Amino acid sequence: MVHTIATVPLLIDGQWIESRSTVWRDVVNPATQEVLARVPFATADEVARAVAAAQRAFKTWRKTPIGARARIFLKYQQLIRENMADLAATLTAEQGKTLLDAEGDVFRGLEVVEHAANIGTLQMGEFAQNVAGGVDTYTVMQPLGVCAGITPFNFPAMIPLWMFPMAIACGNTFVLKPSEQDPLVTVKLVRLALEAGIPAGVLNVVHGGEEVVNALCDHPDIKAVSFVGSTKVGTHVYQRATLAGKRAQCMMGAKNHAVVLPDANREQTLNQLLGAGFGAAGQRCMAASVAVLVGEARDWLPELARKAAALSVGAGKDNPDLGPLVSRAARERVLGLIATGVEQGATLALDGRGVRVDGYPDGNFIGPTILSGVRPGMAVYEQEIFGPVLVVVEAATLDEAIALVNANPNGNGTALFTQSGAAARKFQEDIEVGQVGINVPIPVPVPLFSFTGSRGSKLGDLGPYGKQVVLFYTQTQTITQRWFADAASVGRVNTTIDLK
Ligand code: NAD
Repeated sequence: MVHTIATVPLLIDGQWIESRSTVWRDVVNPATQEVLARVPFATADEVARAVAAAQRAFKTWRKTPIGARARIFLKYQQLIRENMADLAATLTAEQGKTLLDAEGDVFRGLEVVEHAANIGTLQMGEFAQNVAGGVDTYTVMQPLGVCAGITPFNFPAMIPLWMFPMAIACGNTFVLKPSEQDPLVTVKLVRLALEAGIPAGVLNVVHGGEEVVNALCDHPDIKAVSFVGSTKVGTHVYQRATLAGKRAQCMMGAKNHAVVLPDANREQTLNQLLGAGFGAAGQRCMAASVAVLVGEARDWLPELARKAAALSVGAGKDNPDLGPLVSRAARERVLGLIATGVEQGATLALDGRGVRVDGYPDGNFIGPTILSGVRPGMAVYEQEIFGPVLVVVEAATLDEAIALVNANPNGNGTALFTQSGAAARKFQEDIEVGQVGINVPIPVPVPLFSFTGSRGSKLGDLGPYGKQVVLFYTQTQTITQRWFADAASVGRVNTTIDLK
């Protein structure tokens, strides 16, 4: 029997189609190296057809009543819930994270879908009567047109769901470019979105890499681009898309510091640090990747290493503490960085490089690794490692720790562990990072708020989801109106700027 490998389709104008591309890559299970599917790099013509379909669909979708839009997302959230187990299994197979964490990935996206179902109250304008005699002013938040989303490998459910539900709920149409490393769960989520009632052409999917992304940045009919991924690519996307006159928001790489004061609850803090440092094998943009041990908390390092050594590593479907890294290349890169860290003078307080997982000899595993004695200037401090490697830095005081965090160019997230309200308040006020956790290691806001990474971790003023994204995906139109009563007409020419 010939074993054929499934191909990942494109979605153009409501039709799932096989790409005519000659360039394809394998979607690989990171625990086994099994090839799960082949994904195309869409041709220029296919990208153009997807944008054209979205442009046509916008004519009617922009006028679709709020209630009709909202009801699709009510149905959609139900479908996602019903399919949670299947979505999580697909996600784990192609991405590697544990099944429990895969459900979390879907769930954090589901929360945005629930929020999109509230679009009626989110997209309301403002009104002021008698801004001048008999003159009223009001605003409406109009959809922009075709918007595009480009997503990374590490949250293949949550991050696409950050993008197209809110864009479409606001009345836009959308072209999504999922990560080419793990597009399968994203495609399943899009199928459910169509089942929920998203009309043909309103949501389109193209696959690919640099060329497809550049085509989306350049296309004159695309009005806004939302990107999540690395700092290098995000900076390129921001520059290219804004040069072409588009709105852009790029959420990018990070180096999140967790500052530990000696008055913190020791057991809770160490557990939180380990979960946030090693969960998802460290492949989270909000991972706590730098522990800053302040004062006597420096003595906690041996216990941190002991607890980390006890974490289990395995295939995601078996629900260990950590799964594999997404690809062989990612594993090689992380191993290279650990070696450089040691060469540059860091100490291996825990070495996870030799980990073996029974039954999975080919998995991209690295066990929890801790590098202590790390200082600014070392590669392991300057670069985002994006693997199960926690670097430990020491600081004498809270002030020194705050200065360290503020001197780092990234601004995605940070956390403080303490029992002191005064220390927490000082930290919150003085720290120059867009998302702050107080005894919360991964402070990713729920969608009532917006994701507000800052400084080097973000380009563009408005973040994904929450109120900010409604502003991102709409244009405020301000209408100033006067309805003359016949008797009130003064019948004179007014050549001043006054609203007389
Ligand atoms: P990546 O930048 O390699 O890829 C992101 C997207 O860009 C993918 O769709 C990819 O196909 C495309 N792409 C890759 N190379 C390109 C190029 N040269 N030109 C144009 N497009 C290109 O990122 P990744 O490795 O998939 O994801 C991990 C990164 O994403 C990490 O840096 C992580 O911190 C970041 N991230 C940030 C956030 C956030 O909210 N700030 C969230 C998740 C992930």
